[in-house]
Amino acid sequence: MQFKDVIGHSDLKRRLIQSVQQGRISHAQLFLGASGYGNLPLALAYVQYVCCQNRQEDDSCGTCPSCHKFGKLIHPDLHFAFPVNTSQKISKDPVSDSYIAQWREQVIESPYFSEHDWYETIGIENKQGIIGKAEAELILHKMSFKPYESDYKIMLIWLPERMNATAANMLLKLVEEPPQNTIFLLVSDNSDLIIKTILSRTQLIKIPSIEESILAERLANEYELSGHESKVLARLSAGNYLEVNRIVRQQDEENDYFESFTTLMRKAYANDILGLLVWVDDTARLGREQQKSFLVYCQKMIRENFILNLKVDAVYITGAEREFSEKFSQFITAANAFDIYKELNLAIAHIGQNGNAKIIFTDLALKISRSLISAKK
Ligand SMILES: [Zn+2]
Repeated sequence: MQFKDVIGHSDLKRRLIQSVQQGRISHAQLFLGASGYGNLPLALAYVQYVCCQNRQEDDSCGTCPSCHKFGKLIHPDLHFAFPVNTSQKISKDPVSDSYIAQWREQVIESPYFSEHDWYETIGIENKQGIIGKAEAELILHKMSFKPYESDYKIMLIWLPERMNATAANMLLKLVEEPPQNTIFLLVSDNSDLIIKTILSRTQLIKIPSIEESILAERLANEYELSGHESKVLARLSAGNYLEVNRIVRQQDEENDYFESFTTLMRKAYANDILGLLVWVDDTARLGREQQKSFLVYCQKMIRENFILNLKVDAVYITGAEREFSEKFSQFITAANAFDIYKELNLAIAHIGQNGNAKIIFTDLALKISRSLISAKK
């Protein structure tokens, strides 16, 4: 990871680079800020710069043997510790090393990810990750050796707030009086949860949100947006790159849902049974969670169309949804709105109980068809 790959933060990058050039490298540092601001990529770019054999004025060289190994996260002097737990693959005594392959893959794919993303990657599902005693023992062991290739031995601890008290106590002395040529980098989202004694022994590097104009520029390229769209998106995300991804994902999903909703309604209204069965096949292929959120989306649309029909002007739909609904709302009346809404509720419940999706959606489609046709008369 080079500094040029980190979005924004030009001032902070300059300060970090200067501190290295002036030989002011603190032994224990805390990179604190939201994951979506880029605390992890900044920390990685920083340590790569520290160890680069051909440092440039404004970045690591990216091509020396050290940079090469940092790029792949396989430098022998670069160590990681991060929260883990048991999973289907690792059923006993999990430590960071058990998941190091997934860690490298995740970070190399994109170093912008959340704690939740990480737990999904390693499949620990709904469990909380921790940095525990076994991990602390490993850290002590790894840091007891001299650096192999670089001037420094680096331990990057991602989310030190997940360290339990035992581990924190074991590491306290090491963080306080690190062996020569070691750097501890704590990369944290939330310093309130870090044990105070550890916190007080680190130098704080505060990571602010990404400058909106820089983020907007990046988004314009990445998502092929107009200048205006990318500015709005950067503002909505409050300078948080992960938040951007969430907003875009949600938007994509809603677009798909809208397509599917209009298909269902058109075919139901036309009593096109074959068309409905094709729709059922497509919908039954989605994952359960998606099926449920699609049905919730349908409920929203039915509700808004009913309100539109009543000519109350408090409708929360715009754009293509609004355009469709201007024509469609006449068929969502007091006579059928509640029935359709109830059927959607029932379908949500049945999907939740792992019912057969094809049967549930066929039943739903036919009932909606009947309700819409009755409104025609
Ligand atoms: Zn280099």
